[in-house]
Amino acid sequence: MQKKECYICKKTKHVSNFSSYKNREKYQYYTSYCKKCIKEYQKSRPWDNILRGIRLRCGVDGKYFKRGIKNFLTLNDIKELWFKEKAYLLKRPSIDRKNSKRHYTIKNCRFIELSENSRRGGIESSKVRRKIRLKKCGDSK
Ligand SMILES: [Zn+2]
Repeated sequence: MQKKECYICKKTKHVSNFSSYKNREKYQYYTSYCKKCIKEYQKSRPWDNILRGIRLRCGVDGKYFKRGIKNFLTLNDIKELWFKEKAYLLKRPSIDRKNSKRHYTIKNCRFIELSENSRRGGIESSKVRRKIRLKKCGDSK
């Protein structure tokens, strides 16, 4: 039975407790941290995921990229906002831009409930969708 020591909790566990990945030569590798520790770590650092989400949205394939919305937030900014706005009190905190035409900056961002954010975003994205549809109709003529 293959066992491995976790780098964080220092416990020796069966490899099934570790995430594995394969490289190009198809060797199987296991992460240095066990799944439980990774989960704990992500829970204690929610801003990691939030920044990843923002970067995705502002990245080349993201929905904000074409609209020219940029991210100026660093991990520390998000962390600061997180505590300032007491985001940990929210059920499902999500980052919101107060002015949706402006960039992700510490002044323009706040934390709100995910449900409220997606409702706001939903209105916005349906407008965008309509615009795209109109554009497509125009193109086909
Ligand atoms: Zn561990």
